[in-house]
Amino acid sequence: MSSPLIDVIADAMINRRVIEQHPKLQPLLSRPTSQCVYDGRPSVEVITGPLGQRVGHCAECAKADKQLAATWPRTWTFTNRHNGRRVTITCLPGCTASHERHMATPTFPEDIVCGTQSDPDAVTLPITDDPECERVDYRVLNTFIEANPFSQEVARRLPHVVVEVLDEHYIEPLDPDGLETVINVFAGRLDELRRVHAELVRVRAAYAARETRIDGWVDQAVGTAS
Ligand SMILES: [Zn+2]
Ligand SMILES: [Zn+2]
Repeated sequence: MSSPLIDVIADAMINRRVIEQHPKLQPLLSRPTSQCVYDGRPSVEVITGPLGQRVGHCAECAKADKQLAATWPRTWTFTNRHNGRRVTITCLPGCTASHERHMATPTFPEDIVCGTQSDPDAVTLPITDDPECERVDYRVLNTFIEANPFSQEVARRLPHVVVEVLDEHYIEPLDPDGLETVINVFAGRLDELRRVHAELVRVRAAYAARETRIDGWVDQAVGTAS
C-alpha cells in the first residue's frame, strides 16, 4: 500500500523523465503533485497527462479542465481570401468566438481571432477626466485570452493574455512572464492603495477631533460669556 508521500516522490521521478524529453514542460512539472500544476494551490486530484506526466489539480482547475475537454478540439475550415485555398484550423482551447462569418465567406487569415469569453465578472467604475463633467462607467481590469493564429506578429499566434486596463485600452499580447510582471505592478499599486486608505482613516480621525475641539472651544467661549 502506498502512502501519499511515496506517491508524490514517484510522481516527481516520472516527471523528471518527462522533462528530459520535453524541457519546455519544466516550469509546470517541477511542482509536486500535491499542488495544482497551474496555480500551486492544494490539489484534489492527480491525473496522468498524454505524455505520462503526473499533475495535480485544485478543485477549480479540475472543473475548468473538464469543461475544456468537453469542447476541444474545435476544428473548422475557411477559404483564404488571398489565394482561394481551403484552410483547416483548430481553435484556441476554450475559444468562444463563433467564427460563423469566417466559415461562410472568404476570409483574410490574419483577421481570425480566437478568444476566451471576456471576464463575466468584469467591473466598471465611474470615471471622469474633468471633475466638472459627468462620470462615465468604464470597464476596468477586464482580462481574457486570445490567439491570432495567422498574425504577422508571431507573439500573437500563441495564446496570450489581453488586459483591458480601462475601456478599450489594452496591455497585450502578454505571455505568462509578461502577465506576472503586470500582476506584480498591480499588486504594488494595491499595497499603495491600502497605505493611502490607512492614511485617509487617520487623517479623517484627526480632522474630526479638530472639529470637536473647535466645538468644545466655542461651547466654552459661549459658556464664559454667559
Ligand atoms: Zn488550480
Ligand atoms: Zn476560435
